Amino acid sequence: MKISRKTKTLKIVLDLFDKRDNAYSVVELVSIFSKKMNKTTVYRILDRLEDSGLLHSFLDKDGLKRYAKESSIINTSQKNTDHPHFVCDDCGISTCLPLEVNIPSIPNFKINNSEHLYTGQCHDCQA
Ligand SMILES: [Zn+2]
Ligand SMILES: [Zn+2]
Repeated sequence: MKISRKTKTLKIVLDLFDKRDNAYSVVELVSIFSKKMNKTTVYRILDRLEDSGLLHSFLDKDGLKRYAKESSIINTSQKNTDHPHFVCDDCGISTCLPLEVNIPSIPNFKINNSEHLYTGQCHDCQA
């Protein structure tokens, strides 16, 4: 079976997320794939993967969008829970945290999205 070009580029992006559990910022992803595809393609693929639920995104403290794959340790099927993300202040790596955070119900407010961002030192940077 012939794999279309579109599918191939999509697979290259997914493979990166399969290799490591880290989250990547859009800027990092564009530079990682700069030899294989242009910026617009990277953005389009990330949108598609997020729409199909294979990746999810969060904003770091600089307001940069970071993408991570849907992890099996984290149960995202429950409606009123979310999971936090961690960004290392020293080396800048980011990752999903395998914790469940309950989103409180607040009278008169409808919550559609929540961001839980933790920053500090990752395992390697504490050494
Ligand atoms: Zn670190
Ligand atoms: Zn996550």
